[in-house]
Amino acid sequence: MCESFKTNCVCGQKNAEIFFGKMVLAESSVSQVYCPKCSQDIESGRNDRVWDNDWILEMDMDVLRTLQWELRPRK
Ligand SMILES: [Zn+2]
Repeated sequence: MCESFKTNCVCGQKNAEIFFGKMVLAESSVSQVYCPKCSQDIESGRNDRVWDNDWILEMDMDVLRTLQWELRPRK
């Protein structure tokens, strides 16, 4: 099963659809989305940010930790 949600980036000029299937990812765990344009000023190296083709997802680490604990595989 693959779910998705749509969100605006920080500068408001782009729309992103984020899919979360196997990933431990939910809408509430993404705090900011940067498109290639508004990601220009973002510094790399923070581990709460996921880079994908110049798009950046800024994750809420607290939510991620909670989800990982709750959704931990049973196998
Ligand atoms: Zn933008």
